[in-house]
Amino acid sequence: RGLVVVVDGPSGSGKSTLCRRTAAALGAGYLDTGAYYRAVCWAALEDGVDLAAAAAASSTPGGRDHGSDEAVASLARGLDLRVGTDPERPYVIVRGTDVTAAIRESRISAAVSAVATNLEVRAELIARQRAAIAVQAAERGVVAEGRDLTTVVAPDAAVRVLVVVDEQRRLARRALELHGTSDEAAVERTRDEVVRRDRDDSTVASFTEAADGVAVLDNSGTLEEGVEALLALAAA
Ligand code: C5P
Repeated sequence: RGLVVVVDGPSGSGKSTLCRRTAAALGAGYLDTGAYYRAVCWAALEDGVDLAAAAAASSTPGGRDHGSDEAVASLARGLDLRVGTDPERPYVIVRGTDVTAAIRESRISAAVSAVATNLEVRAELIARQRAAIAVQAAERGVVAEGRDLTTVVAPDAAVRVLVVVDEQRRLARRALELHGTSDEAAVERTRDEVVRRDRDDSTVASFTEAADGVAVLDNSGTLEEGVEALLALAAA
């Protein structure tokens, strides 16, 4: 059996690039669990599900829009979804359409928390992620990333890591991803999105504090330093 490495962290922590590079170095598979939530969000928007209602309801304490929740849950259960595991060439295919780029759009980032806070959606996607991790583990090992992998999806993984990063660095990374620049104006525009998604995601899992047995990796340095640190944890 190959090594299972699971990595949690907030958006903008640089964990995707870190995990892809590390998986490639280990000759392991790579699994992006955020892509599952983004894919369901993409499909829900395509189907005209009212995610805005779900989002508005879910940001009131204890509030849910049950009609749209149930619609998204049944959509998730039946969704034809394929997530690639080659670290050199990740892809996401929904209903036969390649949505690898589309699921990164800001309209998806803005709506995805409404999908991710739906517990029935989570149950379905967690089951799929566990199955994908098991397949990779049996073949060549895997580096998987998300928010709840160290605590919920794969608490028995051999290597569990929480990525943290300097806050200014994190905003700059997201600004570069979203706006193609990390100048001051772009960072300010990014701040709102990042703060809101952090808050919405915080109900999903605690990815700011390491659970028992979870190593903390500070990814504020260069990519090479991060990869080296993750490889060291994987080898320990
Ligand atoms: O990592 P990424 O930013 O692509 O994740 C998109 C969204 O998917 C997150 O904002 C979060 O709402 C959700 N997610 C999750 N559990 C995971 C991975 C992602 O709830 N394991």
